[in-house]
Amino acid sequence: MRSPVHEARRWLRGMLPWLMWPMLYCAGLLGAGAAFASHAPLLWFNAMYLSLALVIAACERWMPHEPRWLRDDGETPCNLAHTLLTKGSAQVAAALVASAPLAAATAVAAVHAASGPWPAHWPLPAQAVLALLVAELGLYIAHRSAHQWPLLWRFHALHHSVRRLWVLNTGRFHFVDSAFKALLGQLPLYLLGAPLAVFMWVGAVTAVTGLLTHCNIEMRTGWLDRVFSTPALHRWHHSKVLAEGNRNYGENLVLWDRLFGTWYNPPRRPPADIGIDGRVASRFLAQLVQPFTASGVRQIMGMPAVRRHNRPSGAPETGEPPVRKT
Ligand SMILES: [Zn+2]
Ligand SMILES: [Zn+2]
Repeated sequence: MRSPVHEARRWLRGMLPWLMWPMLYCAGLLGAGAAFASHAPLLWFNAMYLSLALVIAACERWMPHEPRWLRDDGETPCNLAHTLLTKGSAQVAAALVASAPLAAATAVAAVHAASGPWPAHWPLPAQAVLALLVAELGLYIAHRSAHQWPLLWRFHALHHSVRRLWVLNTGRFHFVDSAFKALLGQLPLYLLGAPLAVFMWVGAVTAVTGLLTHCNIEMRTGWLDRVFSTPALHRWHHSKVLAEGNRNYGENLVLWDRLFGTWYNPPRRPPADIGIDGRVASRFLAQLVQPFTASGVRQIMGMPAVRRHNRPSGAPETGEPPVRKT
């Protein structure tokens, strides 16, 4: 007969995949709340974000969804550089505004002057939920456009060019892609006159959800898949098969996916073989430049290179950015 301790451990091991997403999500939001209540919210939020990323990375080793995704793909320096460039520059801008009281006061006054229909008298959690719903519509439109409009796909392809999903892919976005999403996600909130605290909470929820959607932890999310953008849904979004990949555009919530018919969660395992048909440069700076050059765009789109008439036959082409087959 098995001991109660053994049975308890067996039960816990069975429950852990179900507990993992809610526990990490709540831990991230509680950490964000503590950071925002401190005297150095930006510093403590970054500390919380880094801590959560490290905990997720450890959990990926402990209970991976795809063991083969644990293998190094050589993309870590690029992923780190993109994360620091996009998220770092946004935070430096925020810190500059926060450290200039006059500019901050002017910005806040401008927001309040424009405040029209925003229900600023609601409790902050209710305002944050409303803001998420509004921001998600802009994020949904931006993300879906990035998949369906070649002019934007050339930037978004960088995010989809990875061959494995793990926590560090969260920040792998071209800065043009990030700026476009931020514009469409945040502009409606500015126009509605949402206060600064609401922007901070939308940013916090998006940051925590993003770490989780890309993680390689074996999780069971059940009914949560019908509300939140979970790892299970996002793994379908990274599928090579267009009919599977052009789904689940939601960043935090899947409300708009469900309303517009792009929610996708069939009862089978998402593909482990992910990526794109096109080719993306292998080095960080080349990845930034590639969408701005004609030859780079052709590679991203998976189109054959244009042959130059004045090039001797058999000679290698020049001027092409270094590429990696994806
Ligand atoms: Zn996408
Ligand atoms: Zn992704």
